[in-house]
Amino acid sequence: MLDIQAIRNDFPILTQTVNGKPLVYFDNAATSQKPQVVIDAISNYYGTINANIHRGVHTLSQLATDAYEQSRQKIQTHLNAKHNYEVLFTAGTTHGINLVAHGFAAFVKAGDEVMVSAMEHHSNIVPWQMLCERTGAKLTVIPMNEKGELIIEEFEKLLTEKTKIVAVNHISNSLGTINPIEHIIKKAHEVGAAVLIDGAQAAPHLKIDVQALDCDFYTFSGHKTCGPTGSGVLYGKEEWLEKLPPYQGGGEMIKEVTFEKTTYAGLPHKFEAGTPHIEGGIVLGTAIDYLNSIGLDNIMAYENELLRYGNEKLQEIEGIRFIGTATKKTSVISFNVGEIHPYDIGAIVDKMGIAVRTGHHCTQPVMNFFNVPGTVRASFAFYNTKEEIDALVLAVLKAQRMLG
Ligand SMILES: *Cc1c(COP(=O)(O)O)cnc(C)c1O
Repeated sequence: MLDIQAIRNDFPILTQTVNGKPLVYFDNAATSQKPQVVIDAISNYYGTINANIHRGVHTLSQLATDAYEQSRQKIQTHLNAKHNYEVLFTAGTTHGINLVAHGFAAFVKAGDEVMVSAMEHHSNIVPWQMLCERTGAKLTVIPMNEKGELIIEEFEKLLTEKTKIVAVNHISNSLGTINPIEHIIKKAHEVGAAVLIDGAQAAPHLKIDVQALDCDFYTFSGHKTCGPTGSGVLYGKEEWLEKLPPYQGGGEMIKEVTFEKTTYAGLPHKFEAGTPHIEGGIVLGTAIDYLNSIGLDNIMAYENELLRYGNEKLQEIEGIRFIGTATKKTSVISFNVGEIHPYDIGAIVDKMGIAVRTGHHCTQPVMNFFNVPGTVRASFAFYNTKEEIDALVLAVLKAQRMLG
């Protein structure tokens, strides 16, 4: 059992009042809050070892380099990657996907296919559309059912020798669906397709083992995982990272530069051009330590309890429609109430100190599928409580009375 009050004390922002009411933060799928150890680590970095990395012989540069590389190692262990150089630091999930989609032009020709799913975030759609535009490849889409689950028989029918890469999310940000990625990866590999997993919503909730999954790429964002904004990770299998051309050119990613020809540095530096987000990379390691100190299994179990409770309580609201009712899902509840616009509910509950997200959640195709303009999305983290869910229910009822 987790001591939720002790955990809440780790998050200074949670003691605030918003609009005169205690803050209830239910926008965790957009970004997580940061524990004091993470806030302190940011300050400690700038207060003690700030220097540019990899190039300096001076002490601070070596300390900063060591801290950066130790964090990479920590993340390697956390993801169970085979090599530390398979862990690339990025600015986040969007950056990781673009890095792969950009380089993948080298392996795709006109008539080939690139596969995504019906429930992707825009950042796992648009980079692949750009790849298709550049190469003449075709985008195919795994459909979903009314519960917001991928239709696996359809996926298997769509998959052919023409499919070069399959890019799907581990967990949907607007629906909370946990996708059967083990099966998707296995089937895709049978036709020789690579697989990229968008793990932005999985990394804060699940233990990820990239070798057991056997995925070719796995990417997530630091800021959704209790870490700093602008930090992130792209895991890539060595064989793919060796083959993939660099994304950006610049300092740090080269071996030798002349005006006639430049040779690239080895992994991971080939993909880390320029001065990186040094503090972000280091502190992402601190955030992962923090999550592990609580235990991802404990986090998942407690969040499941919040999900069950939230569903039960919200269900009592007349006219509520849940969007995304997959059998396997995380603690995301997307809903609408009657014909009330989600934005109006969001604005009223905010007046009561409750932060929910409203709109399309960067998944317009999902909203089109369910024929809604958007949803109200409450996404729970391990520092949320059942009392906060009760406050949300009361606030939504109030909004309904005012607007209905
Ligand atoms: C948030 C999110 C992204 C984009 O992440 P950024 O941190 O904005 O780069 C991509 N996919 C999913 C599923 C997300 O939830």
